[in-house]
Amino acid sequence: MVNYIIVTGGVISGLGKGITTASIGKILQLHGYKVTAMKIDPYINCDAGTLRPTEHGEVWVTEDGGEIDQDLGHYERFLDINIPKHHNITTGQVYGIVIDKERKGKYLGKTVQPIPHVTDEIKERIRRPSTEGKYDFILVEIGGTVGDYENVLFLEAVRQMKREGNHLIDVHVTYVPVLETLGEAKTKPTQHSVKLLREMGIQPDFIITRSEKPLDEPRRDKIALFCNVDEEDVISDSNIDNVYAVPLMFEEQYLSKKILKKLHLRKDHNDLATWKTYIENIRSYEKKLNIGIVGKYFDIGSFKLSDSYISVIEAVKHAAWNNGFTPYIEWIDSKQYERDPNTITNLNELDGIIVPGGFGLSGIEGKISTIQHVREHNIPYLGLCLGMQLAVVEYARNICGLSDANSKEVNKETQHSVIDVIPEQATIIRESRYGATMRLGSYPAILQPGSQVQQLYGKTKVYERHRHRYEVNPEYIELLEQKGLVFSGKSPDRVLMEFMELPNHPFFIATQAHPEFKSRPMKPSPVFDGFVKAAWKKQQQDQKIMVK
Ligand code: GLN
Repeated sequence: MVNYIIVTGGVISGLGKGITTASIGKILQLHGYKVTAMKIDPYINCDAGTLRPTEHGEVWVTEDGGEIDQDLGHYERFLDINIPKHHNITTGQVYGIVIDKERKGKYLGKTVQPIPHVTDEIKERIRRPSTEGKYDFILVEIGGTVGDYENVLFLEAVRQMKREGNHLIDVHVTYVPVLETLGEAKTKPTQHSVKLLREMGIQPDFIITRSEKPLDEPRRDKIALFCNVDEEDVISDSNIDNVYAVPLMFEEQYLSKKILKKLHLRKDHNDLATWKTYIENIRSYEKKLNIGIVGKYFDIGSFKLSDSYISVIEAVKHAAWNNGFTPYIEWIDSKQYERDPNTITNLNELDGIIVPGGFGLSGIEGKISTIQHVREHNIPYLGLCLGMQLAVVEYARNICGLSDANSKEVNKETQHSVIDVIPEQATIIRESRYGATMRLGSYPAILQPGSQVQQLYGKTKVYERHRHRYEVNPEYIELLEQKGLVFSGKSPDRVLMEFMELPNHPFFIATQAHPEFKSRPMKPSPVFDGFVKAAWKKQQQDQKIMVK
């Protein structure tokens, strides 16, 4: 029988429920259980594909081409599994199905209502992975906070599932603030949050309290008493230096043992040691790497930039840790180089530069100047999707002499659209069919034997995830290659350019794909791994020059 762990949130959003869910999954997985995870996003959008990064953070791309909330990225990274797109449920998807069924007369003349018809659909979606027979645990994170209008029907569906006899426990994640003036942790918001949850008919089995400092005994007792849980089921989740250490923090409080006990399951084995050593090693690395990410999405109020590029950051960390380095990331707004071109020499201070994926027009020229600078000054460069497209534009302009070369996305009028849409995408754009219509998900690339990327991957056929509409324009490939740019990875039919590199540069590799989506702790992406090694080499050489 499959077991469900429902993760709900209270008090405030942004508590890191995704990390909590992934960490609970991890400790169960390390005890030998087969685990997967799902995310419920109560918004009406059918997926995250049309959401602006400053609104939503990064859009995560699954192997099967889903465009999903970044929490799925946490699950995949922590659990080291691929999660399919149907593990993301949104209000838009659920209502879409219900309305479609109604139009087809499937409800046989009944009045179609939120309860039971919408909740039935939600339950069907939550239970779907269990029909695959592969999992002991399905973790289900419900987005938003209890008390929101949007997630009422999802919570109701969970209540019904428990009533129907599913093996299900609820983990409620709340926030325990410390008021500076009082210097005391306050549990009242947690009490109110649990009260709201119980009004919905759900009694939490565990309460996980996010806070700056570990929860003390009196607060734990108070939460237990007012929220009707045992003291030992109040789990402290205080700020920590590394998110991958959260599973260890939970295990110090015996969370997996307590969960298994409630579900009458036995703990068979324990593989925590490798994970523990991994974290201890990370904490001991003394060599520092300075990596610059030149992007945009920088200037919206209090928006947290790292959310837009979270997978890129994690991929840098995984690769750096695997080589014994601690990475430091510098955020660089490419528009700065448009305003003040002289500041571009600041890039020389960094060990390596990444231009990540992106959409739209702003900051493009600053990114192109960045790429020219790193190309000309032998600074290791990794270009991801847009970062490859602009590397091609820069090369076409400055090496091939096509001074107005550009991407059609940026300039519709350019005479030399070295980056353009494939014909089927042109139709999609004309008809404004923007949802789920990019080139999405995993596609193969055939790597040129002996090329740098082929050596990094150690094989000639690789699969990476994609999310783009634009491509290298086939009309310019011959010219670019004649002038020394190597397209070292192509689609199997050789029509689409998947990887490029510059053989005379210490490390200049770019890809139309997003290898960051497949990077995992202890299993870094090969291109990121090569990039951090090259960055370290540059740092060593710079030091030699300084010593001289
Ligand atoms: N905007 C570009 C395209 O659509 C690049 C997308 C990306 O970087 N993911 O092709």
